[in-house]
This record gives sequence, structure tokens and C-alpha cells, in this order.
Amino acid sequence: MNLDLLAECREAKRIGIAGHIRPDGDCLGACLGLWQYLVKCLPATEVWVFLEKPADIFKDIKGFGEIRSDFPEESPFDVFFVLDTSTDRLGGAEKYFKAASKTINIDHHVSNQGGGQINVIRPKAGSTCEIIYDLIDLEQLDREMAQALYVGIIHDTGVFQYSNTTPETLEKGAKLIGYGFDFPKLILETFYQKSYVQAQVMGRALMESIRFLGGSCIVSAIEKKTMDFYNVGPKDLDGIVNQLRNIEGIDCAIFMYETGVLEYKVSMRSSEKVDVAEVAAYFGGGGHARAAGCNMTGTFHDCVNNLSLHIEKALKKWEAEHDERNNNH
Ligand code: AMP
Ligand code: MN
Ligand code: MN
Repeated sequence: MNLDLLAECREAKRIGIAGHIRPDGDCLGACLGLWQYLVKCLPATEVWVFLEKPADIFKDIKGFGEIRSDFPEESPFDVFFVLDTSTDRLGGAEKYFKAASKTINIDHHVSNQGGGQINVIRPKAGSTCEIIYDLIDLEQLDREMAQALYVGIIHDTGVFQYSNTTPETLEKGAKLIGYGFDFPKLILETFYQKSYVQAQVMGRALMESIRFLGGSCIVSAIEKKTMDFYNVGPKDLDGIVNQLRNIEGIDCAIFMYETGVLEYKVSMRSSEKVDVAEVAAYFGGGGHARAAGCNMTGTFHDCVNNLSLHIEKALKKWEAEHDERNNNH
């Protein structure tokens, strides 16, 4: 059954919206899509969006300039939305969630146990933006809102490429482009286009990558000093792990960047053979079966060894099941 968003917000004077730390396209699109919807439908209500500073590539999405990244002291919100994440990755927005009278968590991560008073967790949805699309009154949908939701859908499905793309995803995508925003420009500028230094760092990561487990896995890491040398931040490293995953014969790709002394942010992408959400969960992270992440401590080699043990187990399990199936046929 669908949650009635406006009914939940009708009594509220102040509403807050937040997504996860290091917001991606889906997180940003969902937050701004919902923000636009609530502002339009509830003109007498204050609506705030709190997110860590998103990448400038998203600056054309309506509401981008309204995002508060300084997390100021605020009196408690009547309703607080947590989008595209469980309630433990809110960063500076966590205090608003904790103080709010009513909390609503909308997400598509399998690992999300539902930390709001109201929870709409749909792991089958390719993106949180698809869930937002299902929850809004489509009569209110307009060009700017369509653009915000579309950006989330293309980012989480790799422009309708990953296996989380469903017929419903494409139907929603078709309806959304009908609103007439410049979707080729949006896809190019927010998804494919890289700055020259971003391309250089990606090239370096590919060149320095190492294959292991008989060539079925690949890992690459960017150290802090390299990031400083090229003057790039974590947002500039998006897309590297996908590029590693696209290499022939790879079942699991890992990309890591140094966040501190002996600390790494790890991103994983996989084929059907490895559930990387399970692997990430061993290290306190999460995500989806084919795309997940976690934070790890230790040297590069410690991290890879620890991940490798779990990946190898998953690969062996898949192969055993596969052999069994072949033998039964
Ligand atoms: P990333 O590799 O950062 O692009 O993330 C891939 C997927 O895993 C996304 O759906 C993230 O929300 C999720 N994810 C990444 N890092 C973590 C983490 N530390 N904890 C939980 N989920 C994560
Ligand atoms: Mn996300
Ligand atoms: Mn998402």
C-alpha cells in the first residue's frame, strides 16, 4: 500500500528532508524531488533540505541552491524524511532526525531495517527516486520535479543498464522525459562527463589496478597524497569502480581511496556471482547485491586480504551451486 505523503505532512508547520553522507545522484534527486513536491503542494509549510555539499554537476536541478550543508541549530521538525539510506548515515543531519516529532524513512537498500516511525523500504526499486515517483500525486508532477527524479533513476541504474532496471523503471523514465527537460545534456553532464583531472586520476587507478583470485577480481586504490597532488576529492572518484567492473572476466571490482591514516572508503561492484552487500556487511557497510560499500581500517593489503576471504567464499559458493545445477541437468 502506498503511503499518503501529503496526509502525513498536513499538520506540519516545518518539514525537514535529509539523505546520506556523500550524496549521490539518487540521494540528491530524491531529496530535491520531494522538496519540490512538498513546497508545491503545501505552500504554507516550511520545507528544508539538509545534505553534505553535493557535486556542482547537479547545480541545474531545481532546489540545489536551497540545500543546507552547514547543519545549523534548528528547533525540532514536525516531520523529518530520511531518503536513500538507513538512519545511521545521516552525518550532520542526524540531530534533526533524533529530535523530530514524526520520522519517515524511504529507501531501497536491502540492508535497511527501517529506522523511521514510518518506513517505506522497497529493495526491488532500482532507486529511491522511483519510490518517490510512486508516492507522489502525479497530477502535481512538472518539468523540474521530473528532472530531479530522472537524475536519481539514471544514476542508480547506470542509465538503465544495471540489473536493478525493471520494466517499471523504463516506464517511469519514459513518463519523466515526456516533461521535456534536456535529458541528453543531463545524462552527459551528471553521469558520463569527467573533468580532465578526473580522467587522469581514473587512468592512473586503472593503470595501477591489480587482479587477484585467478583474475576474477580487481582492486585499485588512490592514496591521499595522490588526491592532494591532483587536487581531487572523493566526488571526483565516482565512476572508477564501474570502469574496473567493466573489464572482461571480472566478477568483483574494488576501488578504495584513503580517508585517513590506515583508513579507506571501499566501493565494490560485482556480477551475479558475488553479493557485495553481504561482503560489505561484514565490515559494517552495506548497499545492494551488485553495488555496495564500507569503511575499513588497516593497510591496503590488510583490507584487500580481508575482503578477498569473503569474496572467495562467495565465488566458491556460486560455483558449487552452479556445478550442482549443471550436474542435475
Ligand atoms: P558506493 O560504492 O559508495 O557508490 O556505494 C554503493 C552502494 O553501497 C550505495 O547504495 C551506498 O549507499 C552503499 N554504501 C556505500 N558505502 C556504504 C557504507 N559505508 N555503509 C552502508 N552502505 C554503503
Ligand atoms: Mn545513494
Ligand atoms: Mn539509491
